[in-house]
Amino acid sequence: MKGHEPTHAIRTVAVVVAHPDDEILWAGGLLLLHPEWSVVVAALCRGGDADRAPRFHRAMARLGARGRIGDLDDGPEQTPQEPARVEALVQALLPGRDFDLILTHAPEGEYSRHLRHEETSRAVTSLLVSGALRCRALWTFAYEDGGGAHLPRARLEASLFVPLPDPVWEEKSAIITGIYGFRPTSWEARATPREEAFQKHGPPFLTASQPSVESTQP
Ligand SMILES: [Zn+2]
Repeated sequence: MKGHEPTHAIRTVAVVVAHPDDEILWAGGLLLLHPEWSVVVAALCRGGDADRAPRFHRAMARLGARGRIGDLDDGPEQTPQEPARVEALVQALLPGRDFDLILTHAPEGEYSRHLRHEETSRAVTSLLVSGALRCRALWTFAYEDGGGAHLPRARLEASLFVPLPDPVWEEKSAIITGIYGFRPTSWEARATPREEAFQKHGPPFLTASQPSVESTQP
């Protein structure tokens, strides 16, 4: 792993994603590389999907992670969701409010484009800003697809790159095809990044509209 991240200091990890499969697509290799982490994955959508939800729990078993799944609207029309509703769901799915590391979507998502990914990212950031969620590090997925010109790949400006050794890559691919059931020719299987990338953030977590204030607390 490039970036000399002190991953030995990480014990508890929350992965907050829009859909069951996003945790594998964008961070599955990282999670497989760290079996010592205590991981909970919160997937906001598809809890009522009789096909996808059981596959999610099988993927969690393979990762050795706890999984919680919600049933946020995920219709093809992608009706925007109330931010407060998305935030409340994230809080309801997570078993606590303190984590060493939180992984989630980038504010602009990973490809062009999926509103639920962006809403999920904003909800996590908003909860961190308000203090409803706490973590020592936030890593957002760092991929781009050239505006749809190519499959998602690591952003060149990402702050952490995780090239996957062959056995880890094969395990990750096997979860996408074998457990989630995507055909090898599917977009998901072809998009599965062989090099994972993340953008590291704070704390402190501040929105652009929230000025930094010197704390008067001792
Ligand atoms: Zn997704």
